[in-house]
Amino acid sequence: MVYSADSQRYDMMTYHRSGESGLKLPAISLGLWHNFGGIDTFENGRAMIARAFDLGITHFDLANNYGPPPGSAETTFGNILKADFAAYRDEMIISTKAGYYMWPGPYGEWGSKKNLVSSLDQSLKRLGLDYVDIYYHHRPDPDTPLEETMSALDLIVRQGKALYVGLSNYSPEQTKEASRILKRLGTPCLIHQPQYSMLTRRPENGLLDVLEEEGIGSIAFSPLHKGILTDRYLNGIAPDSRAAGPSVFLRPEELTEQTLGKVRLLNELAAERGQKLSQMALAWVLRGGRVTSALIGASKVGQIEDAVGALRQPNFSIEELARIDEILK
Ligand code: NDP
Repeated sequence: MVYSADSQRYDMMTYHRSGESGLKLPAISLGLWHNFGGIDTFENGRAMIARAFDLGITHFDLANNYGPPPGSAETTFGNILKADFAAYRDEMIISTKAGYYMWPGPYGEWGSKKNLVSSLDQSLKRLGLDYVDIYYHHRPDPDTPLEETMSALDLIVRQGKALYVGLSNYSPEQTKEASRILKRLGTPCLIHQPQYSMLTRRPENGLLDVLEEEGIGSIAFSPLHKGILTDRYLNGIAPDSRAAGPSVFLRPEELTEQTLGKVRLLNELAAERGQKLSQMALAWVLRGGRVTSALIGASKVGQIEDAVGALRQPNFSIEELARIDEILK
């Protein structure tokens, strides 16, 4: 059946400007790290993208290596775009990244100009696109001069293969230096993508300050801590959960009694607020306006609906924030 987007799709979502740029991103964005690979069910992925777009989620985040196998999430998304979204490309912000291992030899990872340019050409082919909206350097490279990596990002924008550039997993110091170079080149950094959730608060130690100073937006990845900050694991490991599946990125060992104890207390507080824990976790990441967008993953359409539902109750009292800090201590 031909997809036709919901005419009310912009009514429930809020959009935030990314740093000092002109680009607005939805408060909730959808990432395709898991559940869109060659091993996954195409129709489920297709249904999730359609539902997300109908709920006002305009931003979809990928990387060269998402799958498995690596590259297959871009191929899946390219097929969904072709089947359903040809009429909506200008309403979508699509990102991809390079930096992690993708192909053998010295050019298949890290941050050389050779890697960044070749990888994006491969990504564009898999996606079936002429350009992506945001191109990220996925992780800092200790060997390549930062000047070379940033020049490659600038070149790619000048070639029209990306509209904006971003950084991921860079430290506050590396971000500051990279931002300085990018500004000088005339391609300011749009956004930084750090891991940030109630269980991973590292960006509060300097990164968010640097982003504010530099006028760079932020998009928090794994805001549900890969599913731990939901009701998923409160009563054991569900067979259809990430921890039960083949992903090496969430092993049952991570679900310690100490972590689950915190999750139970957070779950009680969420219930008092009239929210699911997953919704409170997203509202918390977005609290105070320092984070542009919360970048979720999903395995089911209902999880995307849950996430957007978080925006109905975005505010916290001082007491609630203190209670959360106390639980997380
Ligand atoms: P989340 O922390 O949002 O975890 C998503 C998972 O949580 C889902 O796949 C699902 O797992 C579970 N979940 C989501 N909603 C609910 C719900 N309402 N109820 C119960 N369970 C729920 O994010 P991800 O770890 O998936 O990462 C999100 C995105 O961030 C990635 O797709 C990618 O775009 C980006 N990312 C970037 C990285 C980088 O280095 N730049 C690294 C990692 C991620 P289940 O399968 O159990 O249903």
